Amino acid sequence: MPSSVESLACALQKALCSTLQIEASDIGVSWRWLAEKSESRECEIILFDHTPGGAGFVKDGFDSWDKVVAKARELCEGHACEKACYDCLRSYGNQTHHEKLDRSTVIEFFG
Ligand SMILES: [Zn+2]
Repeated sequence: MPSSVESLACALQKALCSTLQIEASDIGVSWRWLAEKSESRECEIILFDHTPGGAGFVKDGFDSWDKVVAKARELCEGHACEKACYDCLRSYGNQTHHEKLDRSTVIEFFG
């Protein structure tokens, strides 16, 4: 797993919204650790529709997952900021994680 799952989760959330051209608030993102062992720290990132009952955006996103991943890389590679800014990983919805966001983690993960 990436050293900063927050970065990866936020990148995928923003990339999904960007790919589908929907509002950032339409998609929620969450993550949870599956194993807290020191070596195999596995984590699951969950993207979900904010619309009650689901608007199908997440499904659409998974149908074109390659594009979402490409977009996530593009967001993080396209410019120069120290770790993260509002053009790449940061958003008003993820303010609580700003300290942990680092775009190099995303670039590394999708290598
Ligand atoms: Zn940036």
